[in-house]
Amino acid sequence: SYSSEEEYDYLFKVVLIGDSGVGKTNLMTRYTNNEFDLNSKTTIGVEFSSKTVKIDEKIIKLQIWDTAGQERYRTITSAYYKGAVGAVLVFDITKYQSFESCENWIKEVRENAPPNITITLVGNKSDLGHIRAVSNEKASTFARKFGLTFFETSALNNTNVEKAFFDHFNDIYQSNK
Ligand code: GDP
Repeated sequence: SYSSEEEYDYLFKVVLIGDSGVGKTNLMTRYTNNEFDLNSKTTIGVEFSSKTVKIDEKIIKLQIWDTAGQERYRTITSAYYKGAVGAVLVFDITKYQSFESCENWIKEVRENAPPNITITLVGNKSDLGHIRAVSNEKASTFARKFGLTFFETSALNNTNVEKAFFDHFNDIYQSNK
């Protein structure tokens, strides 16, 4: 058992990336605090949330970083990517443009983050299937082409959020242990 939050076997820094408004902040708060905010306002500046998970009896401390709106100004700094072992690339299944941006986001990660970074693709807002603009098949094909794992999630309904993050951390663990 572990009582102290300071005791851990691994520390993983993971960054959230993707266009503004796709749900990055809400995915993070859903995952780390089980909270969702329909009227979330973006604050400027880098923020992260922590959570501890167990994989293979190892205690893994996660630092999940949110861009906190920097992406709107195209000013994501290299400090954001420094030391990151994972990136969760989020698009909004109802906004085709946010899916189209993913290729550029992958390029940006590859240019700025450490070389072996694990990237997971997340199509968020699956609760809005009736106004979907990106098919699951199209996103899956894209993910395969870039060697990424793909999940559809809803931060609103809490669908697949835990699974997407856990799978992401497990991928990181398997390549960093
Ligand atoms: P960010 O700019 O990528 O951090 O996006 P936010 O987390 O601030 O979310 C932008 C907007 O989308 C907010 O109004 C959220 O309430 C909404 N939102 C986020 N996730 C979901 C979701 O899964 N479903 C729906 N319907 N709305 C969402």
